[in-house]
Amino acid sequence: MSAETTTAAETKARPTYALALTEVRAVDRVSPNFVRITFGGEDLDEFGTPGDVFDARIKIIFPPTPHAIPAIDRDSDDWWGSYLAVPEEERGSMRTYSVRELRVTDAGTEVVVDFVLHLEPGLTGPASTWASSAEVGQPVFIVGPRRGIPASVHGGAEFAPGTARSVLLAGDETAAPAIARILEDAPRELRGTAFIEVPTASDILSIDAPSGVEVTWLPRAEGELHGSALMPAVLAHLGDAPSALEVQDIDGEDLLWETPDYSGLGEEIAAADAPADRYFWIAGESGVVTTLRRHLVKDLGVDRGQVAFMGYWRRGVAMRG
Ligand SMILES: Cc1cc2nc3c(=O)[nH]c(=O)nc-3n(C[C@H](O)[C@H](O)[C@H](O)COP(=O)(O)OP(=O)(O)OC[C@H]3O[C@@H](n4cnc5c(N)ncnc54)[C@H](O)[C@@H]3O)c2cc1C
Repeated sequence: MSAETTTAAETKARPTYALALTEVRAVDRVSPNFVRITFGGEDLDEFGTPGDVFDARIKIIFPPTPHAIPAIDRDSDDWWGSYLAVPEEERGSMRTYSVRELRVTDAGTEVVVDFVLHLEPGLTGPASTWASSAEVGQPVFIVGPRRGIPASVHGGAEFAPGTARSVLLAGDETAAPAIARILEDAPRELRGTAFIEVPTASDILSIDAPSGVEVTWLPRAEGELHGSALMPAVLAHLGDAPSALEVQDIDGEDLLWETPDYSGLGEEIAAADAPADRYFWIAGESGVVTTLRRHLVKDLGVDRGQVAFMGYWRRGVAMRG
């Protein structure tokens, strides 16, 4: 048995998520709207499984002041309870991110995250603000899947194309890191298409995608809203050209989260009659994803069991944990 596999009994006994106190090791402004931050530290030695990261989500806890370390009990098996036990004003803010890269070497583990910088007054939050001024040496807690625990057990990743012969991945800049990681962890024979909307042409970053996956970057026209480039491109690719594309979100403040085996809307999930030919993975601004969902499921008749539709953020709403 390799160090990166576990028996069922071990999997059951260990918490599926690891809480790591990390420090910023590098800060690279890779484009006008992305800052790439590398986190390191001994606690990361139990974190993430190389080659099996895909779109695994992690939680980052941004401290209330740059060098503060909230008193979260790292030895507790209940990281969430331990986080909540810290008084609110000392706890900082938790947000969800993707792993752009997981580097495991003899020198230890490093986790690389690509942060979108959305800094316009009224449209920014603790995560983006923190990332915009992060410096080497700053401490940050990260929670993520424990090494060797498969996604089917930790439940924090969605990409699951099954036996589908091709994939369609689509998202805005917040989904770009997950799409990149999916394509770099995927088998080299994967086929399909990826559409990634970014604020500007200078935000196009390199991805080592399988040769059978065509990656199309879609810079937004200046002043246009999120989804303005992504929605028509995806629908045109699928043969749908609606005359008007009005963005409509679900009611309330939640993010849309509809996957083949989970429905945030409480819809009944029926087992697919036959294995899907094509698998869809769509993430980004919740209203944009909701609008795409409506067109795919209602107009194009795509089986909801073939698609993961995930709101990664929501216009005008601050995320909570
Ligand atoms: C599974 C998952 C994976 C994610 N991966 C990444 C990732 O790898 N990189 C990444 O940058 N983000 C990622 N996100 C999105 C990120 O969690 C949100 O953008 C989050 O709201 C940022 O927190 P904040 O504190 O900056 O803003 P918040 O306090 O949450 O929000 C404050 C304001 O900023 C607005 N806002 C939030 N995000 C954006 C944005 N991107 N553009 C414009 N306005 C925005 C909100 O609408 C709100 O008005 C991911 C989200 C999920 C659910």
